[in-house]
Amino acid sequence: MIQNGVPLKDYSNYKIGGPASYFLEIQSKEDLINGLNEWKKMNLQKPIFILGKGTNILISDKGFDGLVIHNAIKGIEKNNNEITAGAGEPVSEIISYCIDNSLSGLEWAGGLPGTLGGAVRGNAGAFKGETKDIVLKVVSINLNTLEEKTRENGECAFDYRYSVFKGEASDEIIVSSVLGLKPGDKETINKLTNEKINYRNEKHPMEYPNIGSTFKNIRKELVPEEFKNELMQYAKDDPFPIIPVAKVLYLCNLKGVREGDAQISLKHPNFIVNLGSAKYEDVKKLIALAKVTVKEKYGIDLEEEIMYLE
Ligand SMILES: Cc1cc2nc3c(=O)[nH]c(=O)nc-3n(C[C@H](O)[C@H](O)[C@H](O)COP(=O)(O)OP(=O)(O)OC[C@H]3O[C@@H](n4cnc5c(N)ncnc54)[C@H](O)[C@@H]3O)c2cc1C
Repeated sequence: MIQNGVPLKDYSNYKIGGPASYFLEIQSKEDLINGLNEWKKMNLQKPIFILGKGTNILISDKGFDGLVIHNAIKGIEKNNNEITAGAGEPVSEIISYCIDNSLSGLEWAGGLPGTLGGAVRGNAGAFKGETKDIVLKVVSINLNTLEEKTRENGECAFDYRYSVFKGEASDEIIVSSVLGLKPGDKETINKLTNEKINYRNEKHPMEYPNIGSTFKNIRKELVPEEFKNELMQYAKDDPFPIIPVAKVLYLCNLKGVREGDAQISLKHPNFIVNLGSAKYEDVKKLIALAKVTVKEKYGIDLEEEIMYLE
């Protein structure tokens, strides 16, 4: 089942990245267990990385010398107002299912790319909604012991772009999740979802490959006293008081700055877009420049929202 030298560029929303030395595509839990048993027999002692739709990962041009597990476990089942979905199911498919079945609760995620597994792990959120608001249970499998575990929402340690799967359970792969929704009016759900999609299409640089927001927004309390007057006017409540990092990057004159074919987006400066043949190092240089510039001007330490695979 395990393939060699698979180009990760083809699995990256950024269209950046070298090959995976070892690559396992899984469409079911059985595929995962069989693949991991095969991996154990190879006894290579190399790291494992889980890949969803690659909408949040900057992948090195050198690739990854380990096993990449591409999670394509799909399927959606309904039980009253709860749905159980495979973690490899694209969020967009789950949203369409919710609309078809008049289930409300995911409208905020209209246009959110990526898989359910990626959204749960990073507690993806937008428009004051967060994945944690609808997750009832998460089922995962430990990559070392192959043990399956079900966690209730309260056991997932959800926080801003964080869950237990980024911390103590980072050696587990999410295989499915149960989502709690509410009955709603199909037309209204559809309308609210489309509003979000249209907003994204208008405000985000969707015309170029990208991996969404580069940096996390800035918690209001982290703004140094001497800059509060200047920056507080831009504060928003989403999902708690923050200063949009896009505004700060704009104020630092970073909009449009280019390194090779990577560019701090002219449309939304928290996106770094790939104009054609951007390299991993080009993006990294822009990230470093943004961090240094914001620190020098406002004394704020930016923190990446994107993940690295190197
Ligand atoms: C245009 C655009 C807009 C975006 N807007 C938003 C937004 O509004 N809000 C937001 O929060 N994010 C946003 N993102 C970022 C991204 O879409 C989300 O973080 C998404 O949830 C990532 O899902 P993915 O399947 O692509 O994960 P990947 O990018 O493939 O992986 C991301 C991380 O999750 C891990 N992972 C993936 N699947 C699993 C699994 N099954 N089990 C355990 N770990 C796993 C990976 O190892 C990696 O560390 C945006 C991205 C783009 C390109």
